Amino acid sequence: MKKTLKTAAFIVATAFATNAIAADITLKLAHSWPKGFPLFATSVDDYAALVNEMSDGKIEIKVDSRNKHKSAFGIFDFVKNGQYDIGQSASYYYGGKDPDTLFFTTMPFGMTAAEQTAWFYEGGGIELANEVYAKHGMEVLPALNTGQQMGGWFRKEIKSVEDLKGLKMRIPGFGGKVMAGVGAIPTNIPPGELYQALERGTIDSLEWVGPSLDLRMGFHKVAPFYYTGWHEPATELMYFFNKEKMDSLPTWAQSILRNAAKLAAYNGTTKTFHDSAKNWASMKAEYPNIQVKDFPADVIAALKKSNDDLIAKEAARSPIAKKIIDSQAAYLEKARSWTSIGDQAYLN
Ligand code: CA
Repeated sequence: MKKTLKTAAFIVATAFATNAIAADITLKLAHSWPKGFPLFATSVDDYAALVNEMSDGKIEIKVDSRNKHKSAFGIFDFVKNGQYDIGQSASYYYGGKDPDTLFFTTMPFGMTAAEQTAWFYEGGGIELANEVYAKHGMEVLPALNTGQQMGGWFRKEIKSVEDLKGLKMRIPGFGGKVMAGVGAIPTNIPPGELYQALERGTIDSLEWVGPSLDLRMGFHKVAPFYYTGWHEPATELMYFFNKEKMDSLPTWAQSILRNAAKLAAYNGTTKTFHDSAKNWASMKAEYPNIQVKDFPADVIAALKKSNDDLIAKEAARSPIAKKIIDSQAAYLEKARSWTSIGDQAYLN
């Protein structure tokens, strides 16, 4: 009898202990940006707050910025190795780790934000991204879309393709490869070092985002020619989850982590559009020296050709690259046909 009671007490105690563990989850997250960096970092803070609120305080996410972990482009490895449970960065920063990650941020001459968001959520984009990231023990989700990015800040006006030859430009991802195809010298530099690199002449030009984030960087003070975009029509940031860690969590926690990511991405995308509109109004008023330019038609034609050549090479490189390229091309064709008689017709 005594023994039976002891066993029952043990079962109750064990049940309480299990609940206590399940109800108290602490996760570590690393992102690429300086602490408090508008939109890109603050949307991660919003994500952590949402997860905490939705889980009634049962999940806590500890957010480390670049100031803490010191490696803006180390997020892929941090999450892959399990040093961090979650990461937030841009997929196209990791083309050197795996070239198939380049397709999941934005593509030159590719889909607009509305088109690409539909591709990610409804057109199989997230599944394809996860096929690539599964090889690295990760699961990914969209994190924030900047919408159309500007073509960048240039010290001198670009009048022909000749002006791009030997031009040192900060431009990451597929756009950088396309630029290299027309003779420019692309490089990637973390956001915290961009202004200095442009001011000191380490680079001749750069692209960053658009009015939402460019105004506070001060690029217009050294490079007044502000070109319209072609290379990043729909830049999507990404949440990276260590898959083993994610799979080890209770179903309710996994659901909150995924659904809060979707909500934080929506909020961040909306705020970025709002800030672009607001900041462009003040940029125009306060800095009349800024000259907005379109690249000449022959420059755009050369960039398109460079892009087409690269896409053909990429499709031949690996079966998964071909699968992603075909999926994006098919979705773009279908979606653009609607955009043409929808938004485009309205704006015209
Ligand atoms: Ca950019």
